[in-house]
Amino acid sequence: MNSQTPPNPARASTATPIPTTHTTPPAGEPKRILIVEDERDLAEMLSYNLARAGYLPTVAADGQRAVQLAQQSPPDCIVLDLMLPVMPGLEVARILRESPSTTSIPILMLTARAEEADELAGLAAGADDYVTKPFSVKVVLARIEALLRRTPSRGQSAPAGSVTLGLVHADLEQHTVTSAGDSVKLTLTEFNLLVALMGSPRRVLSRNELIAKVMGPGVVVTTRTIDVHIASIRRKLNHAGGQIRTIRGVGYQMSAEIHAEEQTEA
Ligand code: CA
Repeated sequence: MNSQTPPNPARASTATPIPTTHTTPPAGEPKRILIVEDERDLAEMLSYNLARAGYLPTVAADGQRAVQLAQQSPPDCIVLDLMLPVMPGLEVARILRESPSTTSIPILMLTARAEEADELAGLAAGADDYVTKPFSVKVVLARIEALLRRTPSRGQSAPAGSVTLGLVHADLEQHTVTSAGDSVKLTLTEFNLLVALMGSPRRVLSRNELIAKVMGPGVVVTTRTIDVHIASIRRKLNHAGGQIRTIRGVGYQMSAEIHAEEQTEA
């Protein structure tokens, strides 16, 4: 354990079972968190602290076990280490993102290195956020809370009301969009694609994920037409079109920042 990691109360009592209930759980059903970590001390420390915060933690010590557990009984959130035995964390994320029953579970990636390549690889594989080791438990708890807030109920990608990201605002009831305050006319498919991207800020969505999200009665979409729709959305959003980034070989990502290079891409 690193010196930056706070004292670990779980270590003093490693023989006692991890508590799975707490006197002050968050409102509603306790959220189930799957911790995927092969370092036993770290897994126990996270499990102990999550249980104390009112969550129901489960630990998987390797990547394959994590996939099994997540598929058997999808948790509300996954804390996923990058370096794992049997199957690496990136592969776990990729598999979970491909399956409809696990595709929308928020994933918080734990990485040992702070290099940007790792972050991007993690986000591209479908992680929603990441924390660099060594981390403080407080930070991990705050990130989990934020991810759970962003995912009101499992399997529902579109929240009610409206959503705003950067210069773009979408009214989900009126099906209207504005870009920097100007009204934008989108087709239904374009609207659904845009809302899917806005609903998972920073996360890279693969073309197949986007297809799954926009698929509706009478809507036929192929991976190549996704590119055409995105190009059209970018044009219509004008300057804000740069908020949608192409992640080569993976898919698309939308954030509040404007990437100038994306605006000229056809
Ligand atoms: Ca590890």
